[in-house]
Amino acid sequence: MIDKKLKLQDTLDIYISEQKDGKVIITFSRMTTRERKEIVTQPFVAKFLASLDGERTAGEILKGLGDFSKEQASILLNFLKDEHFIYEAHEAPEDPRYLRQIAYFEDMILSHSGMESQRLLQQKHIAIIGCGAVTGAMVEILARAGVEKFTLVDAKKVRYSDLVRHLFCRLDDIGKYKIDILSDYLKRINNRIKTALFYDELNPNTDLNKYIGTDVDLVINGCDEPYLGHTSLKIGRFLQTKNIALYVMGGFDAHLMSSGELIIPPKTPCIDCCQQTFQKALTDWKPTYTQVEKPEQLVEYNNHNYTINKMNHFDIGGSGGLSVMSLFSANLSCMRIIQFLAGDDRLDYKTERYEYLINKGIMTSFEMVKQRAFCKVCNE
Ligand SMILES: [Zn+2]
Repeated sequence: MIDKKLKLQDTLDIYISEQKDGKVIITFSRMTTRERKEIVTQPFVAKFLASLDGERTAGEILKGLGDFSKEQASILLNFLKDEHFIYEAHEAPEDPRYLRQIAYFEDMILSHSGMESQRLLQQKHIAIIGCGAVTGAMVEILARAGVEKFTLVDAKKVRYSDLVRHLFCRLDDIGKYKIDILSDYLKRINNRIKTALFYDELNPNTDLNKYIGTDVDLVINGCDEPYLGHTSLKIGRFLQTKNIALYVMGGFDAHLMSSGELIIPPKTPCIDCCQQTFQKALTDWKPTYTQVEKPEQLVEYNNHNYTINKMNHFDIGGSGGLSVMSLFSANLSCMRIIQFLAGDDRLDYKTERYEYLINKGIMTSFEMVKQRAFCKVCNE
């Protein structure tokens, strides 16, 4: 370290106060995570920090400040490096768009460098089964964060009513396959992105090996037809045997402003245990089904004009919500997913689902636990 040209992290605020005994208190405050660390030390350390310019080596700066042993210098430098307070001036990512994000990773994930977190993200492969409003937004967030490899599975075409919540869709996309639109959209964000597309509907006999190879790091299930519980069981049991993580998104109840849950075999409860926890908590809850007419039958598109058809007894049915709600769910979910993909060793293996209750202004949480009494998978 002593022969390296170093700089202070850009996200760091440093406060120095002099003490009566001649020492100084240095407070390091991370602007991003609000974490603080205080040390009581000699005034030369403060001067050293102020002198880090990325042009002179640490050794050259220390020499100008007095006589220090190599040991003293290396204790100081190792402390600063381990805390992610300094970085090597020449370090630059392959793609400069990630510079500010890497600075954030430096503060958030302390087990390795911000560059390493970014590198890990860029190596990941995510499969998304069911590309709708929430999962479409999740894919966009993850693509912008740096993930470059996606498998997209969805048989549906863009409908007029999708324009309310599917932020990747435009008017002239109506009638085209959702995954074609989503794939193009992602590639316009980052031209290194590679996608594999499957125009499939998931059914009980679907062979998941088709979509999910051993190089997949995470599967996001947003497939709520016929029912999210069933598709998640099928996918979750398959992934459990392959030690691939699953994020269950969408579908449950109204599910308008909520996270899904991240299942990481073998550390978190398995998919069966998650569903058992739900069943216990929802013993008295029964799903209600509403007849859903196709909203697009209301509207006809001809020569760039829309005509509204008169229909009697039109029942739009089901839960919908606003795009702000889909985005809220996508954002809330992706924070945890990014923490997982970037290899944060402070990730707890709690499997929780959050829901924001809009009328009460509170965030609620529901934790899923291993049902060891009945589960062979989690009992080992
Ligand atoms: Zn289990």
